[in-house]
Amino acid sequence: MLKSTEELQQYIHSKPFKITSEAADELQTECYVIGGYVRDIFLNRPSKDIDIVTVGSGIALAELVAQKFGKGTSLAVYKNFGTAQVKYRDNELEFVGARKESYTHDSRKPIVEDGTLSDDQNRRDFTINAMAICLNSNRFGELVDPFNGLHDLENKVIKTPLEPDITFSDDPLRMMRAIRFATQLRFHIEEKTFDSICKNRERISIISRERIADEMNKIMLSSKPSIGFLLLDKCGLLEYIFPELLALKGVETVEGRGHKDNFYHTLKVVDNIAHNTDNLWLRWSALLHDIAKPVTKRWDDKLGWTFHNHNFIGEKMVPRLFRAMKLPMNEKMKYVQKMVGLHMRPIVLSEDEVTDSAVRRLIFDAGDDVEDLMTLCEADITSKNPAKVKRYLKNFELVRRKMKEIEEKDSIRNMQPPVTGEEIMEIFGLTPCREVGTLKMAIKDAILDGMIPNERAAALNLMYETATKLGLEPKKIIEN
Ligand code: ATP
Repeated sequence: MLKSTEELQQYIHSKPFKITSEAADELQTECYVIGGYVRDIFLNRPSKDIDIVTVGSGIALAELVAQKFGKGTSLAVYKNFGTAQVKYRDNELEFVGARKESYTHDSRKPIVEDGTLSDDQNRRDFTINAMAICLNSNRFGELVDPFNGLHDLENKVIKTPLEPDITFSDDPLRMMRAIRFATQLRFHIEEKTFDSICKNRERISIISRERIADEMNKIMLSSKPSIGFLLLDKCGLLEYIFPELLALKGVETVEGRGHKDNFYHTLKVVDNIAHNTDNLWLRWSALLHDIAKPVTKRWDDKLGWTFHNHNFIGEKMVPRLFRAMKLPMNEKMKYVQKMVGLHMRPIVLSEDEVTDSAVRRLIFDAGDDVEDLMTLCEADITSKNPAKVKRYLKNFELVRRKMKEIEEKDSIRNMQPPVTGEEIMEIFGLTPCREVGTLKMAIKDAILDGMIPNERAAALNLMYETATKLGLEPKKIIEN
């Protein structure tokens, strides 16, 4: 992996670096590309966010760089933070002056002073994130790696540059970042660093839920999210940031009969679904699909362990969980609710005979999200019994085939009622009342059960028949 200065020069030969180099020389300030961009060069991960640190004013350097880029460049200056951002084509360059940070116990907001490159590297979170490459022309491409981050990159190790207790206590978000990097990069957290996370875990309480959610989402979007959740559990952070997930852990036994451990099952489902989708909210649905199992668990002498209605209770829990974790309280949350609420339906369907009527109802309830629901249900099959897995998957195939046939024939997915509630009220001279609902439901059920086609004339006929049974008389005839 070792790359010489000449080799590194190849990675920073593009215009943004050349211009920054010229500008820094002109201002006679030391200047480096630092952090994630440097790490990602060695990992062969293309990266567009470039962090530049200068031993001087980051803003002054950014202003000169923006001027040199000329037209089509945008410059944003954040005076309070002493930082500036330059956007040029699809590159984003962040400029900051090298700084020294000192922390007080109860805040992650440091006291910031101007510092040297070395001070700036000391405040970085991990050795692999503390490497810098000089951009000044006389040292262009020189790697400055005081903590041997390159060695840790080669050995796939996450380790703090200073004593881990200092690094984590100063900014406890770094504990989440350690686990997030370990998950994304499949790196090992060095023992002393990990022990320190265990020791400092309580300090996570000074971190905002939004920052924690950002890290959790990055773990969720990695190729094997279980790595992160297992580490969060092992170091004890999970208890602080997501106790409901931890509550899934463990197996209880009555009369020699245990249930499956829903924590490990859930993590397997999330890993499974990660193979098939990058949709963060579908992945969240997988993480939350069984979240109500602990609160619904009962022992029944005849049935054994039951988790009756855990899907519906889970659906109800989603808004509270999203609010607590500062996840978005919008249509994403509603989507997760829907997935959690419906996650049993395809399984139950595939266990029974796959009737057209049940398939129609599934398509109607899931709407445009029905494919996602099937993806979730397939991921939910974690049985170790290959015959069982084969049977489920075969039945799901049948469900999918039937869904396609029925959708082509009946267009249920975005079904609009062929007769509206307003029309029903107009015909029978009603104000909003139970009877209107009953008539609407009768039409919907008849279509979903395949008793009548999804057409207006048939729906009106059925409505009149049902109304007569309810003792309602039409006051007005409307056209088919
Ligand atoms: P990614 O882009 O995947 O999030 P990154 O390392 O580029 O990875 P950023 O959050 O953009 O992450 O941070 C850029 C650099 O800033 C890091 O590489 C690290 O050197 C430093 N850094 C970021 N957050 C912290 C922190 N909480 N404590 C110390 N250093 C940090």
